[in-house]
Amino acid sequence: MTELLARRNAAFGAGAPLFYEHPLHLVRGEGVHLYDAEGRRYVDMYNNVPCVGHANPRVVEAMARQQATLNTHSRYLHEGAIAFAERLAALHGKQIESVILSCSGTEANEVALRMARFATGRRGILCTNATYHGNSELVGSLTRLGSQPSPNPSVRAFPFPEKYRPIAPNLNEAQLCEAYLAELGKAIEDLRRSGDGVAAMLICSIFANEGLPDVPAGFAARAAAMVREAGGLVIADEVQAGYARTGKWWGYEVTGFTPDIVVTGKPMGNGLPLAATAASRALVEGFRARTRYFNTFAASPLQAAVGMAVLDEIEQRDLRGNVTAVGAALKAGLQARRGASEAIGDVRGHGLFIGVELVRPADGSPDVELAKAVINRLKEKGFLTSNAGIFANVVKIRPPLPFGMAEAEAFLGAWDETIAELAA
Ligand code: PMP
Repeated sequence: MTELLARRNAAFGAGAPLFYEHPLHLVRGEGVHLYDAEGRRYVDMYNNVPCVGHANPRVVEAMARQQATLNTHSRYLHEGAIAFAERLAALHGKQIESVILSCSGTEANEVALRMARFATGRRGILCTNATYHGNSELVGSLTRLGSQPSPNPSVRAFPFPEKYRPIAPNLNEAQLCEAYLAELGKAIEDLRRSGDGVAAMLICSIFANEGLPDVPAGFAARAAAMVREAGGLVIADEVQAGYARTGKWWGYEVTGFTPDIVVTGKPMGNGLPLAATAASRALVEGFRARTRYFNTFAASPLQAAVGMAVLDEIEQRDLRGNVTAVGAALKAGLQARRGASEAIGDVRGHGLFIGVELVRPADGSPDVELAKAVINRLKEKGFLTSNAGIFANVVKIRPPLPFGMAEAEAFLGAWDETIAELAA
């Protein structure tokens, strides 16, 4: 282990992120399970990329068959990618007609932002103050700004909406919603005054990187209306929220707004790099006309075959139904355990995406040390989670979609032991 770590530091450069106090050396995955070099089995409660399960046979077969038949770039006619784009667009409302395929969430968000700038003739971009949408220079300039200005002068961040640590005390839900909308209003006004105006608001539909907050009812729809009123477009980042993660196809169905542009990534290829920017035909063609966009590995027969296999799995195994049922049971189980320890401040989430906020009982402040200890102890017990949120004190639970009731029950048992050991 120490030797492998030393080699990793040399090969990648020290500082490449790594989970857990004692890093995990994985060698194999199958379904919702991962296996380490000693043959120990873990329940994967974290990874959304292998959304239809590790080493999914249908996906593996589609990948191998297509690679053995034909794989080229996209400047030839090929039915596969066309059919995949048609199928993806059809999963949204009628405003979404055409698709630009790419290879990562970063690329797909970059396309979306540039698309919005071309369409509106404006430059300003709105995002939340605790978000992450990718790592290019433009998209990366939206990363976790807090109260700092973005390195990009056309970016404005507004406080992400949440009910657990509300922006102002003693407000009812409707007032809280207004308070957050007022902050968005200030950001819009600031962009207007700067001369950039509003090209787009880019938000994760369920504010995943913000720590999966419970959002005041109506916020997302009202925010979208304000952005459109200012002449901007609304981009839903569904890289984490989409593909049945919440039990619905899209996170925007949960928070209740209608995007102009939808970005998807991570789970689309079950591990094969595959992402998409979907919008109206007019928006997509406006972008294509200005850029002659081409992406070497995207819209290939391989991406299409794998993308189709993933959608087939979700549909034919009714994984949305599974997510809804198991997710509800797991969340209810965790909520029922809130009383077990005052360190459990909040349990929230949608479908198979749940966050447990750990706090210091004395003052309710975020307890990062406890979150880290819980995550490491859960790993020792065979359950892989990680942490999220602005204070990194939220235990993030986000297993592959075929995660079953038996695993949920086993996890709750391990959770009880862990809390009793560390935070009783
Ligand atoms: N959007 C969101 C909401 C994400 O969480 C991430 C990655 N964590 C991205 C975009 C970027 O995706 P990628 O790493 O594929 O570029």
